Amino acid sequence: MHLECLVSAPASRPDLSSTARVFADRHIGPDSEELERILHVIGVPTLDGLATKSVPAAILDAATAGVGDGLDLLPTPVGEHDALAELADRAAQNTVAVSMIGLGYYDTLTPPVITRNILENPAWYTAYTPYQPEISQGRLEALLNFQTMVADLTGMDVANASMLDEATAAAEAMTLLRRANRASKSPRFVVDTDVFPQTLAVLETRAEPLGIELVRHDVTNGLPDGDFFGVLVQFPGASGVVVNHEDLIARAHDAGALVAVGADLLALTLLKSPGESGADICFGTTQRFGVPMGYGGPHAGYLAVRSAHSRQLPGRLVGVSVDADGDMAYRLALQTREQHIRREKATSNICTAQVLLAIVAAMYASYHGSDGLRSIATQVNSRARALADGLRGSGVALTTDSFFDTVSAFVPGRAVDVVAAAKRAGVNLRLVDADTVGISCDETTTPAHIDAVLGAFGAGRTDTDPAESLPSSLVRESEFLTHPAFTRHRTETSMLRYLRMLSDKDIALDRSMIPLGSCTMKLNATAEMESITWPQFARLHPFAPDTDTAGIRSIVADVEKWLVDITGYDAVSLQPNAGSQGEYAGLLAIRDYHVGRGEGHRDVCLIPSSAHGTNAASAVMVGMKVVVVACRTNGDVDVDDLRAKIDQHADSLSAIMITYPSTHGVYEHEIDDICAAVHDAGGQVYVDGANLNALVGLARPGRFGGDVSHLNLHKTFCIPHGGGGPGVGPIGVRAHLQPYLPGHPLRDGLGGGRAVSAAPFGSASILTITWAYIRMMGAVGLRRATLTAIASANYIARRLDEHFPVLYTGENGMVAHECILDLRDLTKRTGVTVDDVAKRLADYGFHAPTMSFPVAGTLMVEPTESEDLDEIDAFCDAMIAIRSEIDRVGSGEWPVDDNPLRGAPHTARSLARDWNHPYTREEAAFPEALAGRAKVWPAVRRIDGAHGDRNLVCSCPPIESFA
Ligand SMILES: *Cc1c(COP(=O)(O)O)cnc(C)c1O
Repeated sequence: MHLECLVSAPASRPDLSSTARVFADRHIGPDSEELERILHVIGVPTLDGLATKSVPAAILDAATAGVGDGLDLLPTPVGEHDALAELADRAAQNTVAVSMIGLGYYDTLTPPVITRNILENPAWYTAYTPYQPEISQGRLEALLNFQTMVADLTGMDVANASMLDEATAAAEAMTLLRRANRASKSPRFVVDTDVFPQTLAVLETRAEPLGIELVRHDVTNGLPDGDFFGVLVQFPGASGVVVNHEDLIARAHDAGALVAVGADLLALTLLKSPGESGADICFGTTQRFGVPMGYGGPHAGYLAVRSAHSRQLPGRLVGVSVDADGDMAYRLALQTREQHIRREKATSNICTAQVLLAIVAAMYASYHGSDGLRSIATQVNSRARALADGLRGSGVALTTDSFFDTVSAFVPGRAVDVVAAAKRAGVNLRLVDADTVGISCDETTTPAHIDAVLGAFGAGRTDTDPAESLPSSLVRESEFLTHPAFTRHRTETSMLRYLRMLSDKDIALDRSMIPLGSCTMKLNATAEMESITWPQFARLHPFAPDTDTAGIRSIVADVEKWLVDITGYDAVSLQPNAGSQGEYAGLLAIRDYHVGRGEGHRDVCLIPSSAHGTNAASAVMVGMKVVVVACRTNGDVDVDDLRAKIDQHADSLSAIMITYPSTHGVYEHEIDDICAAVHDAGGQVYVDGANLNALVGLARPGRFGGDVSHLNLHKTFCIPHGGGGPGVGPIGVRAHLQPYLPGHPLRDGLGGGRAVSAAPFGSASILTITWAYIRMMGAVGLRRATLTAIASANYIARRLDEHFPVLYTGENGMVAHECILDLRDLTKRTGVTVDDVAKRLADYGFHAPTMSFPVAGTLMVEPTESEDLDEIDAFCDAMIAIRSEIDRVGSGEWPVDDNPLRGAPHTARSLARDWNHPYTREEAAFPEALAGRAKVWPAVRRIDGAHGDRNLVCSCPPIESFA
């Protein structure tokens, strides 16, 4: 290349600041020329014209209708480098102290090969939940490793992948035991006193609405009198003590109760597993397996059970099955989209979980292997023993001599001083009470840290060999992680290639648009992502003192303020760590509000039949009764039916949950009437805000009738899906519900309500992503993004309507940000199904749209604002080509059971095999409409789901099965 090209600019080159593209131009796919073409096709002159034509005038924010930006609290946007510089300033306001607070959060060393190739790699972090298993084999294998790791370490038969955090996993363990225990009808559940305070708080939140009575009890004194359906203990305890629970478990079983054990996975490399001690279920977190603390999250919780309970597991479970050629293949087993099918009968409301973080933890275990993990654990334990020895040597009493990594020191009246002295030495300890200090070691703890802590107590290290601290009856003898997945990738080269091999099997946003209705798979910009691995955000303990956390808390405050502005609500809580948890927190606020007004009998929740499945599941979790409201043939809520249901339940009406714009992809024009009718009857309005991408800058749920909404920051606000999590599901509320926003036992100044997540600010460390997005877009950019998303959805609706009829449109023939393509008639006439079309798209290099939700036999397409016209047209061309393939089936040219659609997806290998099909290999793998698009080879052929459910295998299959 000529150097000239790099250095010479035209003499007349204008000032860079005026030509440099603003970030909104990088985020938004269509440029002005493309946008003009899009608007031409949909027949509106301008984006503003689109706003008035699509959004009902009654709710369109007057301030935003073309004049001004209306979002007064949002800052003027800055470019990527300026935003990163501001974030660096905020980061510099945090102090990364040595964290020895413990309580379920430990500093950890993420292997750099994992940081760069998973956490910072869009092939992993931009992936969607693996509902299309044929193009998701990489992340499914990684999750199967996670399940195997958890099952091995806990001694359980089956683990899921994965839970939102340890505290919510404990709550799910409690409700699972209640479902599973057919022998006991008791409402009582025994919780040991030595559990983490945040775990206890979330258990209390969950128990009360379900009529479960928590019995706090020190189980070292045996079990309490009376009946109870379950017992929950922690291993090791919050105080650090390691207790042998075998007898307790046996006695609980004799009493007809089941037992859940919250277990630390690193400790389990040295300690006998709860499974071997007889536990029925294990729960916990995998944070310390290489996932940064991140001021509370995100990290993956886990839940593992004996096989008798495997069909009761909430969340996602990866299983092994076979594909159309009989080759082994992975898929989500049993509860795939469980909530959508079972709704109010679902086992839980968990949808988005923590897939990316589960994958990091699994790879951490693969990279270290059982011997590596054991030596990490041994080092952690030896640091704790040296600490204990030094303390005892200088006369400080410890609460126990049996511990793994955590020591509780008894210093009557001196605890505050000791913690302050340690702080001066750069170490954060846990102030348990005025007399007790907790100190937890982790893999980053050095002898110098131990010296600093001992110094804070006025003690020093002894010369003697510290005493053993693991009870001999509990020393682990069983093997774990013997599968090749945990022995083969111990060099960096091998791990690097393994990660690349896996991600190459998957379609993520780095390869194709992911046109998933309701899930808003938009750009996750690199500048938004960069700061998540900065240590000043990543290495903060959620209970670190405020003096260490000014920077991250200023991010929290900004995001809260900006979301208040965008939603029109009065206050926002960032604690819920998924949309489903936001629903739960919002409904709890409604419930507590009614109770506070002496109307606690209000317990009916109206939910339109089109709702996302989590809505009904969340309502049940807060003790509400679900009453379904019908939809009209045009997709709108049937207002007559709604009024009838309101009349019928007038005295007991608690709330309506309504998604806006609806999951049918239209702005219902009667939304204000609907809200008013519910309010008139004394009910509250929950607006599911998952579709906020169609509202930002145009209308505000807090102004058009909502009392509370959750938002999905992993949809509208650029947090990546990570293959099924992380998520952030904040709720906005109007002032009367503000006193009921989530609180936290270890943090004052939040809402007055109850804790719903383990950490005060949920998945705090990824709020920087949303912060950067809003900071770089500004009010004008956000509004343009919304309108572009609507324009692109309408463009697709226009282009595809004659090939696949668009099921629902609003008053002016417009859709919102997504559209539903109806294949039911085509299926009836030709036998070709939505599955066939979805799988066939993989042969064209595309990820399929949402299948059969919210209407069976349809595809829901959402392009988002981030896709440019070339990609949108390529998708439409592929869909149109697929339509002509369907016609060839319809005309009888190809038999319904042997054609490129039914045969899809086609692997390279399938082409190399004998070929006895009425279509050619070229038609199979290189259809004309593939055009110049890069060929993505699916890793497996169509997977037999039923086979996998009948023969449930949920851990790594033996290596022979790969033959
Ligand atoms: C995604 C979604 C949810 C659930 O959010 P999660 O973050 O997956 O828990 C709820 N409602 C609607 C309409 C959604 O699209």
